[in-house]
Amino acid sequence: MARVSEIVDYCTRIVEDLNFGHAREWKAGKSGRKVVGFMPFYVPRELIHAAGALPIGILGGGDQMEVIHGDAYYQSYICRIPRSTVELGVTKRLDFVDGMLFPSICDVIRNLSGMWKIMFPNVMSRYVDVPQNFRDDIGGKFYAAELNELRKDLGTLCGQAVSDDALRASIAAYNENRRLVREVYAFRAAEPWKAPSPEVYMLMRAGQLMAVEEHSRLLSDYMEAARREDRPRRDNTRVLVTGAFCEQPPLNLIKSIELAGCYIVDDDFMLVNRWEKSDIPAEGDPIRNLVQAYLHNSQSTSAKYEPDQARKGKYLVEAVRRSRAEGVIFMAPSFCDPALLDRPMLQRVLDEHNILYIAFKYAENSGQMTPIREQAGTFADSIKLWSEA
Ligand code: SF4
Repeated sequence: MARVSEIVDYCTRIVEDLNFGHAREWKAGKSGRKVVGFMPFYVPRELIHAAGALPIGILGGGDQMEVIHGDAYYQSYICRIPRSTVELGVTKRLDFVDGMLFPSICDVIRNLSGMWKIMFPNVMSRYVDVPQNFRDDIGGKFYAAELNELRKDLGTLCGQAVSDDALRASIAAYNENRRLVREVYAFRAAEPWKAPSPEVYMLMRAGQLMAVEEHSRLLSDYMEAARREDRPRRDNTRVLVTGAFCEQPPLNLIKSIELAGCYIVDDDFMLVNRWEKSDIPAEGDPIRNLVQAYLHNSQSTSAKYEPDQARKGKYLVEAVRRSRAEGVIFMAPSFCDPALLDRPMLQRVLDEHNILYIAFKYAENSGQMTPIREQAGTFADSIKLWSEA
C-alpha cells in the first residue's frame, strides 16, 4: 500500500518534467495514439477521451523554465503563461502533442490560439468558445453546435468518429474522477492538517498529465494513505484562495502560505477538475448532458460570465461558508484580466458579509516569497486576534 510521500513524489516527478515524459510514454504505449493539450480553465475533456486521445493540461512553464524565445512574441505588460507556453512549443517540448485547445477565457488565450495555428500548422488548434448566455435556447444551442464541431474535429484527428456510447463511457469515467476530487477537497476542508495544500495541489496538477483512470486510482490511494497518516494539528487560520485558475503559482508560494500559519481549505487552482458541481448524467444524449452541465451545474468564478448582477460574487461567500474559511486570499497572476477585473466587485461582496481578505499578485516564476509569507502571516495572526477579541 503506497504511502502519502510516495504518491506525492510520483506526482511531483510528473509535474516537474517539462518534457512531459509521462504523457509521451502513454502515447508510445500503442501506435496511433493522439495527445490533445488544453489551456486553463476548462475544456470538455470527455470529448477528447471519447475520441481515444489523452487530454493534457498545458499550464505554463513554471519557475524552472527560462523564457527566451517566448518573450519575443508578446509585449511586456502581460501575464507569463502565454510566453512560457510559446517557449514550450518552440523548444519542441510539445512536439508530441497532436491537438491544442484554447478555451475562451481572455484575449491572451484567444490570440494564442491564432498564433499556435500559424506557428504549428500541423497541430489541430482550436479556440473553444463557451456560452456567455445561459438560456437553453440561446447559449445551449450555441454550445451544442460548438461541441459537435469539436467532436467532429477530434474524430478526424483520431481517425474514427466519436460515438455516443464512447462519450457516455467517458462522461462516466470523469464523473468518477470528479467524485474523488470532491472527496479529497472535502477531506482537506474538514481536516486540513491531514491533507496539506502543497500535496493536494501536486495530486491535482499531476492529474492534468495522465489518463483519467490512472488519476482516479491515485486519488483513491491518496485518500486511503492520508486517512491513515498521523499528522500534527496546528493552530492555523483557515483561508480560501481565489484568482489562481489560469497561470499557476509556484509551489513555493503555496507552501509559503501554509508555512505562514494558514490552512488553505478551498482554492480554484484546477478548475477543470471541479467544473461540474455534481455528476453529469451518463445516459441519454451525451452532448445535451454536457451542455446542460455547463449551463446549469458548473462552478461560478471570475473566469465565467455572471448574467445576474444580484448574484455576482455570491458564490465566493457560499464557498467561504461551505469550507468554513476564516478569510480569503485573492491571489492572481500579474496582468490577469479576468481575475483582476473581478477582484474589486468580489471584495465589495465580501465587505458586505464582513469576510476578511488580503490580496497579492504573483507570476509563475516568482521567487521572492518573504513578502508573501509576511503578508499571509500577518493576515492569519490578525484573524486569530480579531476572532478572539
Ligand atoms: S493568466 Fe489571466 S490574463 Fe493570462 S492568459 Fe490566463 S486568464 Fe488570461
